[in-house]
Amino acid sequence: MTECDEVRTMLLSGRALDAGSASHLAACPRCSAEQAAVRALAAYAVPAPPSPAGVLAAAAPLLALRARRAGWRALGRAVAAALVPLPLVLLVDVYLVRAAYGMLQALLPRVLSFYVVFNYAATLTLLLAVTYAMVPIVAERQLRLRREESRA
Ligand SMILES: [Zn+2]
Repeated sequence: MTECDEVRTMLLSGRALDAGSASHLAACPRCSAEQAAVRALAAYAVPAPPSPAGVLAAAAPLLALRARRAGWRALGRAVAAALVPLPLVLLVDVYLVRAAYGMLQALLPRVLSFYVVFNYAATLTLLLAVTYAMVPIVAERQLRLRREESRA
């Protein structure tokens, strides 16, 4: 280690300079030029890291926004997955209702078979509507349960 390095190390550590180092500091142009910067560096106090509670409080809005976005995405996926089989379900239902209407016409008067088939179709529509209305509710509940499990 050169004498310049020793002087800078002493300045940086905040120790008092001995006579030889003080005379080197006065004579060496490089050391005297860097003296102020090294003393300022030695005086620099490293700030204390923020408390974990402060970090959590600062990140809470971002975390909440992210959780809300993830919730909307999961809800969209659940609704999309529920809507995929809907055309097939409707097609089968229409086929069944028409077949039932055809069979009932052979047995019952036309108006009565229409009444039965219409009531069946209305009930089916109501059941489908209730089922599809439940999809977002169930998906939201699943998300909330998953969130609570991940927190615990
Ligand atoms: Zn020097």
